[in-house]
Amino acid sequence: MLKLEVRRWSERPRVFLLMLAVMLPAAALIVFGVYYLRSIQRDKAIEAAIKIDHQQVLAIAEKRIDEHAYEVAEAASAKFPSVDNFGEIDSFLTTHPNIAHAFLWTGKGMLKFRSQPSQMKDPQSCTESTKLSSDMGGWWDIEGKDYIAKLQKMEAMEGRRVYFTDHWITRGEKMMYQSLVMFVPRGSTPEHPALAGFIYDTDYLKNDFFPQALNAVLPDQNQRDTSHPQTAIMVRTEKSESPLAASTYWDGGMSEVERPFEDVFPGLILGIKLRGTTIADISDRLMRTSFLILGALSLLMGAGMFLTYRNVTRELALAKLKSDFVSNVSHELRTPLALIRLYAETLELGRLTNPGKRQEYYEIIRKESERLTSLINNILDFSRIESGKKEYSFRETDVADLVRSTLESYRFEIEQNGFQFEQKIDCNLPALLVDREAIARSLLNLVNNAVKYSATEKYLGVNLYRHNGGVNLEVVDHGIGIPTKEQLKIFEKFYRVGDPLVHNTKGSGLGLSLVRHIVQAHGGEVAVESQPGQGSKFIITLPVQSSEVQRTKGMSA
Ligand code: ADP
Repeated sequence: MLKLEVRRWSERPRVFLLMLAVMLPAAALIVFGVYYLRSIQRDKAIEAAIKIDHQQVLAIAEKRIDEHAYEVAEAASAKFPSVDNFGEIDSFLTTHPNIAHAFLWTGKGMLKFRSQPSQMKDPQSCTESTKLSSDMGGWWDIEGKDYIAKLQKMEAMEGRRVYFTDHWITRGEKMMYQSLVMFVPRGSTPEHPALAGFIYDTDYLKNDFFPQALNAVLPDQNQRDTSHPQTAIMVRTEKSESPLAASTYWDGGMSEVERPFEDVFPGLILGIKLRGTTIADISDRLMRTSFLILGALSLLMGAGMFLTYRNVTRELALAKLKSDFVSNVSHELRTPLALIRLYAETLELGRLTNPGKRQEYYEIIRKESERLTSLINNILDFSRIESGKKEYSFRETDVADLVRSTLESYRFEIEQNGFQFEQKIDCNLPALLVDREAIARSLLNLVNNAVKYSATEKYLGVNLYRHNGGVNLEVVDHGIGIPTKEQLKIFEKFYRVGDPLVHNTKGSGLGLSLVRHIVQAHGGEVAVESQPGQGSKFIITLPVQSSEVQRTKGMSA
């Protein structure tokens, strides 16, 4: 017993080590995963990455809008009347309705100014026009030459012919943004330099130029694609939070990332956001999904480890059972063989004169060879079952007769061993289709066990009766009993209860697994009712089945 315990303990560290080898990397992976996700969450890394992405979109958007603005303005400046033909300005304005005012400055005090004729009916526009023309005279007298030099330098270095700047006007309470474009007109010479320009009205920028430009710069938007949130951009003035113009999918609210225009539209700011969601929402969702995936993976790993642990311990237990089996069986084979040899040799010497003694020796030799036969039969049956070659031959049988005759040959021996033997067999039982030899072997296995595992209370009862349309065969003893948690395991191959009383008794751990196999092949079941110290009752239930069913089972068994 001590030896067994020591062995069991020596296997534990092996399993433990094996589990540790799997568990440590898995646990490290999970801990690292959680730590990594937490650091992403803490540093708001996802938000930062999306914002950087948005900044890039805005930078590209600004560049494209600038290009477009230059194209439109340079096309208009090319059509602008030359210095000598300012009289054609009205027709220029009519063909460019998006331009609110145009001017030509040819030197100190020489400003020609004209506003869009159609707007002059509006008194407010008229006042604006008058004020602007008087302001402009002053501006260009001071800065006109500087701008001409700047424009010439720009054209030489960048190939740009126009220069944009912001121009604010007040309408009522509001400051309105306008875009002032300057260029050197045709006919300007180094001796007589001239500066020309025009102003794009707020309404044009707001309703025409920016909506078109903003929609053009966004990557292809597919409204049906719901897997990615759509990006929307807008432009606002630095003096107001609300958009001056926005792309189609702008759904209100504040921008998440902004970028001021640096070149063409100073004073305007580009803003970007996601339609229907926020960067924080996306980051939260991503984090939640990542944690969920990590959680699910951890659970799977845990479950995998649990299954591995269970399998490994089972395999180790089976390996242990097998090695116990080998030593038990060799012991079981050696003892009867030694006895047979001893008594046969004694008889052979012919020194025994007492006939009673001689008879006793013959009996011992017979009993020991019977024990050997039954053990070998069990092992052979087991190996046939394991290799799937076990076949049963079912025949219509009077089970009462089978049980009676099987027990008869043992009755004397059982009673001689000091057992009180009771046998209750009902008459009028239906004939069953059974394999006689297999059923007899099952019964003998149960009877043998009852005898083996009855230490002090020596009682054996065998009952055969009708039950629920079938037949029950019970083997009852008042022996050592079986603990409840062991009652299912005892039907497994090689399994023996780890009780010292059991280990002092010879056995292979095969008997009950054979009984269960045989009974199940007959379409029946075997059960046990037992309490430690109070004895056990094994019940074989055999159904009355059609011969067809039995035959099929027999073949497949
Ligand atoms: P064994 O050769 O060890 O008897 P079995 O398969 O017949 O193998 O039985 C398996 C185990 O079930 C036994 O080792 C024993 O622990 C327990 N067992 C079987 N029958 C009895 C019984 N009648 N009383 C107590 N324990 C039993």
